[in-house]
Amino acid sequence: MQISKKEQDDIRDQLLAEKAELNKRVSSIHLHAKNPLDADSAEQAAQIGNLDVVSALESEAVTELSHINAALQRLESGDYGICASCGEPISIGRLMARPASTECLDCAELDNPG
Ligand SMILES: [Zn+2]
Repeated sequence: MQISKKEQDDIRDQLLAEKAELNKRVSSIHLHAKNPLDADSAEQAAQIGNLDVVSALESEAVTELSHINAALQRLESGDYGICASCGEPISIGRLMARPASTECLDCAELDNPG
């Protein structure tokens, strides 16, 4: 691993902070989703539409959480900071900006041009 102990600690702190934030977001989504469906069919339809948005938001947060958990696991195992596509080290600047990154900038740009 190319990253210093200090940098690893910073990154771990950042990942844990993001994880706490996402967990908060997921529980608040659950809170809003708890509104029981009304018997009125028009209102029910509106609520179901709303639930779609809620579940999209939730799955987004859950996906991010899984990335963060995977990054924390890589920190523990010593694989952290290695590009999953090309095996080259990911730059520290990129890791600091996006600690859950699994790919170096080059590979990420190949996957998401523009
Ligand atoms: Zn790469």
